Amino acid sequence: MRNCMRCGVEMIEDLDIKVDMQGYGISITKSGIFSSTIDKPRVAVCPKCGEISMYLKDIEKLKK
Ligand SMILES: [Zn+2]
Repeated sequence: MRNCMRCGVEMIEDLDIKVDMQGYGISITKSGIFSSTIDKPRVAVCPKCGEISMYLKDIEKLKK
């Protein structure tokens, strides 16, 4: 569960990011290693103030 940083309300999680590039979306990669994709970011939105929070579901790959 994620709470809004601004007002503390429970956020709507697990939304997708749409970047208008023929549906490729965006992905998070380790800096310097272009081919090593970590994960696609997910988005959470606060239903009260509209704050958007980006996060990764699988952070295990970052710990390596
Ligand atoms: Zn909020």
